[in-house]
Amino acid sequence: MKTCPNCGSDNLLVYERTAYDVNTGHFYCHSSKTHDDDAECHCMGCDWEGKRRDLKEEQ
Ligand SMILES: [Zn+2]
Repeated sequence: MKTCPNCGSDNLLVYERTAYDVNTGHFYCHSSKTHDDDAECHCMGCDWEGKRRDLKEEQ
């Protein structure tokens, strides 16, 4: 289980980023997926924000 490196909470969110063409509005690509090392994460316990690779791994 992954936990927050700041407060140790496991109440974490990970964000997926999706890119669209500005002019047509058509889907372009997933620039960041939830399993990517650099996916943005947010802790609901202490409002910490960072990358998925910064999370602590608990056994
Ligand atoms: Zn936290």
